[in-house]
Amino acid sequence: MPVTPELLELLACPVCHGSLHADAERPALLCPSCGLRYPIKDDIPILLPEQAERLQPADGAPDAAPPAA
Ligand SMILES: [Zn+2]
Repeated sequence: MPVTPELLELLACPVCHGSLHADAERPALLCPSCGLRYPIKDDIPILLPEQAERLQPADGAPDAAPPAA
């Protein structure tokens, strides 16, 4: 059973304790406040800041390479 909206309501970001949103593109939970993406592995949300991926602050392509020096 994947993460349901009911489960999402129970979950909170461990950093800011804000509400999380399901990522539309991949199994992950997003914290818009922190700009972090928490992965979901085997239907279990990994709510650890050190496991989270930082989202790109700009609204460019999500997989864009970092700017070259
Ligand atoms: Zn947060």
